[in-house]
Amino acid sequence: MLTEIHFLLTYKCNFECDHCFLYCSPKSEGTFTIQQVDDVLEEAQKIGTIKTIYFEGGEPQLYYPLLLESIRRAKQKGFEVGIVTNAYGAISEEDASLWLEPLAEAGLSVLSVSDDSFHYGDESENPAKIAREVGSKLNLNAFPICIDPPEVVEMKSNQGEKGHAIIAGGAKFRGRAADTLTEGLPTRPWQELRECPDEDLLTPSRVHVDPYGNIHICQGISIGNFWEKPLSEIMDSYHPDHHPICGPLHKGGPAELALALNLEPDEGYVDECHLCFLSRRQVIDKYPEHLTPKQVYGIK
Ligand code: SF4
Repeated sequence: MLTEIHFLLTYKCNFECDHCFLYCSPKSEGTFTIQQVDDVLEEAQKIGTIKTIYFEGGEPQLYYPLLLESIRRAKQKGFEVGIVTNAYGAISEEDASLWLEPLAEAGLSVLSVSDDSFHYGDESENPAKIAREVGSKLNLNAFPICIDPPEVVEMKSNQGEKGHAIIAGGAKFRGRAADTLTEGLPTRPWQELRECPDEDLLTPSRVHVDPYGNIHICQGISIGNFWEKPLSEIMDSYHPDHHPICGPLHKGGPAELALALNLEPDEGYVDECHLCFLSRRQVIDKYPEHLTPKQVYGIK
């Protein structure tokens, strides 16, 4: 059951992180207008099962007036409202209050803050921590999102023999991460990658919507465009079997997708998302409605 809609309010970001699965940067294009936000919120109401609206990006605070008004309108429509931010602008407690207080008054209740070495290196008193502290004082549910550089951890089997290497850190090897963080990491045979680890492709509980109208079931996989057809209708009629990418992924994960697309995968991939992302990028011109926007694939 769909319970959350996540707005990619803008693709633009003040950072350009290696682990970004949307390939965002200061040069990225694409930002919602307030009218477009309103249209999506109305459709979200029609769906009837949506409880929570998130505004994220990119960095949503780069368009602060839009973010503030979007939160207000989402709250007025009865949704719980959260944001995902890198705490841009929280250079001191007083400064963080300048932007967080109005957001809290407008109806924000959840504050997820990217706080890791990709964003802030080793800085211990960084804007992310400041924003969380101020957010907590404002009674927001404030918590960090921490992704560390990938690190190989050897697993031992019960008999004391070496088992599979697993990779710690939390990065998802899709988007820019597939291009920048995978070198030198151990791989698994592509034929073993038979399950999507993160998304419920049959009955998604959340989708991401972007300023181009795409509804992403995973970053860069669109299940419809809500500027062409109402969001509620797209969600009503969605089934993976009617989708050239989600169908094979649902049936047998990225390995099945590579087979269905007649690709010739390399021997091994770091994980499921790595194979999935690189396979999709190979056929992006064949499925322009389903694999979009190109910028999420690092293609200009
Ligand atoms: S396997 Fe593919 S669809 Fe599933 S989470 Fe990874 S990139 Fe997304």
